[in-house]
Amino acid sequence: ITAQTSPPTERSEALFTRARTVTPGGVNSPVRAFKSVGGTPRFIREAHGAYLTDADGTRFIDYIGSWGPMILGHDHPAVREAISDALQYGTSFGAPGEREVELAELVTRLTHTDKVRFTSSGTEATMSALRLARGFTGRKLIVKFRGNYHGHADGLLVEAGSGLMTNLDGGLGAAAPSSAGVPEEYAALTLVSEYNDPQGLDTLMAERGAEVAAVIFEPVVGNAGVLIPTPEFLEALHRVQNAGALLIADEVMTGFRLSLNGATGRLGLRPDLICWGKIIGGGLPVGAYGGRAEVMDFVSPQGPVYQAGTLSGNPLAMAAGLATLRTLEADPDLYTRLETYTTRLSDGLKTLAAEAGVPVSVNQIGSMLTPFFQDAPHGSVRSYTDAARSDTRAFAAWFQGLLSRGIYWAPSQFESIFVSAAHTGVELDATLQAVRAALADLNGT
Ligand code: PMP
Repeated sequence: ITAQTSPPTERSEALFTRARTVTPGGVNSPVRAFKSVGGTPRFIREAHGAYLTDADGTRFIDYIGSWGPMILGHDHPAVREAISDALQYGTSFGAPGEREVELAELVTRLTHTDKVRFTSSGTEATMSALRLARGFTGRKLIVKFRGNYHGHADGLLVEAGSGLMTNLDGGLGAAAPSSAGVPEEYAALTLVSEYNDPQGLDTLMAERGAEVAAVIFEPVVGNAGVLIPTPEFLEALHRVQNAGALLIADEVMTGFRLSLNGATGRLGLRPDLICWGKIIGGGLPVGAYGGRAEVMDFVSPQGPVYQAGTLSGNPLAMAAGLATLRTLEADPDLYTRLETYTTRLSDGLKTLAAEAGVPVSVNQIGSMLTPFFQDAPHGSVRSYTDAARSDTRAFAAWFQGLLSRGIYWAPSQFESIFVSAAHTGVELDATLQAVRAALADLNGT
């Protein structure tokens, strides 16, 4: 084993300095700044297959996959060809086109929904789905779960996960905005319950159910790290439908990732509305929400709930989404391969952490995985409160150990990683070798 010398970061450092002058924190989305793990964020020059290359020319095995969209790997030939084909015909029409119809047909067929509306981001999808639920039910309140993240619309920045987990003060009780600039009056319309706490949800619904327009949830959480729902919690979620509230599955992360029909298909859910993003756009900006016709027909111009977008249904984005979903559908073993790879990574992590005597509790489902740096049985981390017990300093040190060895893990304890179809045994072996070394670093050996 050769001594570890960290790859150069001069160009990333220089870019970060310039970026901070002209962009808040130097980044266009907070987690990219490496705030919770420290060090210089790597500015990425290019991405192919399972690899990222940074501005200094260092190649990394990529485990964030642009935070989910790149399920086929970066620069997949089918997606690249579809985009360049679409490019010949113009980049935006501001009028409907055939690709929107094709993608809507494909999405509704794969997800057993009647109708879908495309947006340009996951945030717009969840924000719009909630407006629709309020318009449809004539009710005001929404319920979300602590540490779940549904994008950055005002009413959803309440006890939110993802980049906000590092900001939460840990106080339970009244719903607190997770961001400055969100009026308490908005936050007061969002009730918060604990994930995987069926009694808590039942109690909340018993008290306020008649005022609740929608309960929105991550069917598998990625934004507090991976949290997997219990069957009892899923039953309690479906009970909210008896109170006349719409159940909204936020599948922005899990859609087309945990199966061709997302977590909904994998876990047998019956939501009223589903939100998508990420994979549905194949790496270009797309979100969507859909459900049964009776509800979706409330959306403008058919119904009274307004929602719009200059670039919604953008032809390049539709082309990338179509190519991605068609490739997924054409390869029935793909999800099994992703899961096999991720299970091996998960098993390797468990074994290596045990050997190194580093307390780690692993949650994994399909191609999503989080090692929580805490002393708890594997699979036992089930809520925000559980996740928050993790040793974020140990995680940060481990993350840096991986990064310096060419493994680009998610730069926060409270995120999932995403394995792609481009990850093979070669990447798995290299990753586990780096994991072993990074764990050894933690012990100072
Ligand atoms: N919902 C979930 C579950 C997400 O994971 C995300 C983004 N990570 C969003 C919504 C917001 O999507 P976007 O970043 O595209 O606005």
